[in-house]
Amino acid sequence: MSHVVSLVGAGPGDPELLTVRALRRIEAADVVLADDLIDPRVLALVKGRLLRVGKRGGCVSTDQHFIHALMIREAQAGHRVVRLKGGDPFVFGRGGEEVDALREAGLAVEVVSGLTSGIAGPAAVGIPVTDRRASPGVILVTGHPAESEGQGRTDPDWAALARTGLTLVIYMGVARAADITAKLMAAGLRADLPAAVVSAAHTAQQRHAVTTLAGLPDCIAREGLKSPALLVVGEVARHAAATLSWPEVMVG
Ligand code: SAH
Repeated sequence: MSHVVSLVGAGPGDPELLTVRALRRIEAADVVLADDLIDPRVLALVKGRLLRVGKRGGCVSTDQHFIHALMIREAQAGHRVVRLKGGDPFVFGRGGEEVDALREAGLAVEVVSGLTSGIAGPAAVGIPVTDRRASPGVILVTGHPAESEGQGRTDPDWAALARTGLTLVIYMGVARAADITAKLMAAGLRADLPAAVVSAAHTAQQRHAVTTLAGLPDCIAREGLKSPALLVVGEVARHAAATLSWPEVMVG
C-alpha cells in the first residue's frame, strides 16, 4: 500500500513561515525530494532521506520526468514521500504537472499550500500587494515563461497587463528586467511609476531596493540584486517607501 504523496510548499525561506501541516509532513517523511530554492533551515527539519533534485542541486538528472519517476518509485515502495517546493507548489512550481504524473501512476496526492514569495516577499519589505488607496488587485506573472515546442517563448501580453492598472508582481524577472520595463512603458505605464525589487525575501540574504519603472534595470545592476527576486511594479511600491523609511530606500 502506498501512502499519499504530499506536494508541500516550503514558503519563501524562514521556517517560521511553514504551515503547521507542512512541518508535520516534512518531519514525518521517509524521503523528501527538495528543489533548489529551499532554505537550509527548512532542509534541516528533514528527518528522513533528503534528495536534492533541483537544477543547481548537483543532481545527475534534473529532468522533470526523472523527478516524476523517482517520486512514483519511492511511493510505490511504501515510503512517505514529500515533494518540497519553494513558496507555494501551485504558483510557478510545476506542481500541476507533478500532480498529473502521480495521479496517472495511480497514486493519491495532496497539496499543502505554502506562502508564495510574490506575496510574502513584498510584505517582508512593507509592500502590500493590494491597497485600496492605490491598487485594487494584483497580477502574479512570470518574466521567464516556458518555451513551448516549436513556438519559442509564450510571453505574457505585457501591454494588456499594463492596461489593467493593477500591481504587477513579476517572478523570475531579474534577467529580463530591461525588456519587461521597456514593454510596460511602451504600453503606457509611466516611467516614474514606483517599482521595487525584493531579493531572497525571508532568508538571511534578503535585500531590496525601491526605484521607478524606468530605473529598474539600472537599479538591479547597481545594487547587484540577484535571483531569486521579485519585481513589484505599481503605486504600492511607493506607498511602502513613503510610509516606512528604510535607509536603503532609493528613488531614481
Ligand atoms: N513556487 C514559488 C515560485 C517558484 S519560481 C513561490 O510560490 O514562491 C522561482 C521564482 O520565485 C524566483 O525566480 C523568484 O522570482 C521567486 N522567489 C522564490 N523564492 C523567493 C524569495 N525568497 N525571495 C524572492 N523571490 C523568490
